[in-house]
Amino acid sequence: MDWDRARRRAEVLEARHPEAAPVLRFARALWRFQEEIYRRARRGGRAAARRLDTALLGGFLPDYLQLVEKHGPPELAARAQKLQERPDWDELLRACWRRANDRLELLARAILEPYVHHLAERWREEVGDLEGGTGSCPFCGRPPLLATANGERRLVCSLCATAWAFPEGECPLCRGRRLERLGDPAFPHLRVEGCADCGRYLKVVDLGRDPEAVAAADEIASGALDTVREGARGNP
Ligand SMILES: [Zn+2]
Ligand SMILES: [Zn+2]
Repeated sequence: MDWDRARRRAEVLEARHPEAAPVLRFARALWRFQEEIYRRARRGGRAAARRLDTALLGGFLPDYLQLVEKHGPPELAARAQKLQERPDWDELLRACWRRANDRLELLARAILEPYVHHLAERWREEVGDLEGGTGSCPFCGRPPLLATANGERRLVCSLCATAWAFPEGECPLCRGRRLERLGDPAFPHLRVEGCADCGRYLKVVDLGRDPEAVAAADEIASGALDTVREGARGNP
């Protein structure tokens, strides 16, 4: 993930889509913080490819919770306040890594993400690119956050940002081939693909139509497309 590029893109999108400005501003603050975690993890040397250094991450917790309370949406800030009183952060992070506790995932994953980006990068450097073609991330097994299209279709992992090739016209979640495309004129380079077989949706960022797009930032800015998606779900 190129944090600096994502932040600059978010600034452009803030001006273009004022309704998404608060959430984009929060994302920029979060990315600055995540980049610091990522840099620290990289400086940490040769971590074993799947080892989670909770001591390193724990050191970032007070600043992180403060950031969420200051810039985050009220609901998240309230949760952060409660978590500050818990002494078992190590275990929470491990549970998030193991996917043992979905309820806490939202808060824990923001601090986990940049560390797992580092682990995935380290894996690619030492072992090589992982084979694509599967519906979930070949590194960490999470579902895709979205897809990008630019000559070939790639899925982008919702946790470690690994991107991998996946066939066009196929649902990554159930491998069904009855995809319906929904769009919004405000986001000409984005679309939502709904699957008629499993009922799930995936956002697609067309980098051919807008080479300046940065998947993470454009995903956040295009909340209106999620409304399109919800509308379609209510009126099949
Ligand atoms: Zn992953
Ligand atoms: Zn499907």
